Amino acid sequence: MGIKTGQEYIQSLRGRKMKVYLFGELVEEPVDHPLIRPSINAVAETYDIAVREEELATAQSSITGQRVNRFLHIAESVQDVVLQNKMQRKLGQNTGTCFQRCVGMDALNSLHSVTFEMDEKHGTNYHKRLLDFIKMLQTENFVIGGAMTDPKGDRSKGPAEQVDPDMFVHVVKKDDKGIYLTGAKAHQTGCINSHWIIIMPTMRLTEDDKEYAIVGAIPADAEGITYIYGRQSCDTRSMEEGDLDAGNSQYSGQEAMIVLENVFIPWDKVFMNGEYEFAAMLVERFTCYHRRSYVCKTGLGDVLIGAAATIADYNGIPNVTHIKDKLIEMTHLNESIFAAGIASSYQSHKMKSGVWMNEEMLANVCKHNVTRFPYEIARLAQDIAGGLMVTMPSEKDFKNPETGPMLRKYLAGRKGVDVESRMRILRLIENMTMGRNAVGYLTESMHGAGSPQAQRIQIARQMQLGYKMNLAKHLAKVKDDFLEPTEPSDYFKRVFKIPNKEE
Ligand SMILES: Cc1cc2nc3c(=O)[nH]c(=O)nc-3n(C[C@H](O)[C@H](O)[C@H](O)COP(=O)(O)OP(=O)(O)OC[C@H]3O[C@@H](n4cnc5c(N)ncnc54)[C@H](O)[C@@H]3O)c2cc1C
Ligand code: SF4
Repeated sequence: MGIKTGQEYIQSLRGRKMKVYLFGELVEEPVDHPLIRPSINAVAETYDIAVREEELATAQSSITGQRVNRFLHIAESVQDVVLQNKMQRKLGQNTGTCFQRCVGMDALNSLHSVTFEMDEKHGTNYHKRLLDFIKMLQTENFVIGGAMTDPKGDRSKGPAEQVDPDMFVHVVKKDDKGIYLTGAKAHQTGCINSHWIIIMPTMRLTEDDKEYAIVGAIPADAEGITYIYGRQSCDTRSMEEGDLDAGNSQYSGQEAMIVLENVFIPWDKVFMNGEYEFAAMLVERFTCYHRRSYVCKTGLGDVLIGAAATIADYNGIPNVTHIKDKLIEMTHLNESIFAAGIASSYQSHKMKSGVWMNEEMLANVCKHNVTRFPYEIARLAQDIAGGLMVTMPSEKDFKNPETGPMLRKYLAGRKGVDVESRMRILRLIENMTMGRNAVGYLTESMHGAGSPQAQRIQIARQMQLGYKMNLAKHLAKVKDDFLEPTEPSDYFKRVFKIPNKEE
């Protein structure tokens, strides 16, 4: 029987022989490391929510015939895609950080259609292999990490043009059993907390890049993998005594570098092997799903707005006009992110393989807003919080018999508010806007699922200026013999499509 609860999940991570480096040393048991544990807790919540809120966080799978965790489900309807977003917002609210499981979910869903179309063209059997793999994941309820981003070296050059061929993960050997990979994947969310990792190419590839056109799944504790843990600002606070200074002591995200040295993948776990012309399709479909998965950040936004409103209340100014206006602005920005993401999901369409995929234009708009709005929401939260957020003494000073009473006297807010409660809320705002979870709320918002320019390129590709110019010329009665194609793009066709009952 598969893993059910968060506790069972945590237990399942124990005793693996993984090579994890942190602070220059091998970590004996990542589960028990105080710096790593909050990131494991965040993933554990993806299990517990599925027990508590079955409709939201599980789905009926036609692959296993069972209800499975939604993070492992292949979307079989518009509703399935929409519910991914609803679950993501809820988990963002519950954890205040990145809960790490969406990259795998989006990788499996995009591979469903890409492997199907590869088989159609090349007569391969990748799709069947993928379905068998998904069946195993769903049955065991495993966590799967999605490894796309390579170190990339010189960004003006493709994989085959790099001075060092290992700047992108590539095949170094093939035999009758499978393939062997070397290279590295950077910024890997939740990789040490995963049971399996799926390796994918990170960009459009050419014929010269064939050895880089690889998709395959490896157990996270496979031989030949070294993990080097990424630092997050203020991360050592979770190693200190007490839980006040951490701001959010229970939950955090996780990123690490994965170094692969001759890592073996058996043929039955290989889902692309040299079909370079499908790399761009995979990257585009993956980012299409993943860019609207970033509605996760609206759950974090809800927490930050709540924290800003609470500190205003503790400071005695909850009804001041400009404070209220700032809270309205924060809410407006947060809901604008959600609006684009959930609309993208509602506009899903069925792919040839049967999986449902969300609307690309709106997914890019959602993610592009995510690269900006959380920064403004964070700025406003810091404005409302006041300077104490960054000048506050430590928990130990509050506990010290000499300084503690001084701090409790001079750091009091309005009457009736516990000083410690005021400090806790300020630390949470610090945590989310410049501390550990600012990684998840801000910088991950900027670069995760592609930096801002990547979305602008996709928006530009689909903005169909010719069609829009014709609309304008028609209404203005312009006599112009230079007419762009008047046929609306797929995006506009779906905008005006009347949904049928199945959807
Ligand atoms: C917190 C976090 C979590 C992440 N999680 C994952 C994960 O789980 N899995 C995963 O695979 N990846 C993950 N990523 C990686 C993410 O997708 C990349 O960070 C992103 O694609 C940008 O790549 P980069 O960091 O190498 O930045 P760079 O590529 O160095 O980009 C820096 C700047 O240079 C510009 N630039 C880069 N190349 C070019 C070019 N050729 N021409 C013009 N401009 C260029 C970019 O637009 C950007 O402005 C994560 C990233 C972060 C920060
Ligand atoms: S950044 Fe958001 S979408 Fe990506 S894995 Fe973390 S929680 Fe999920």
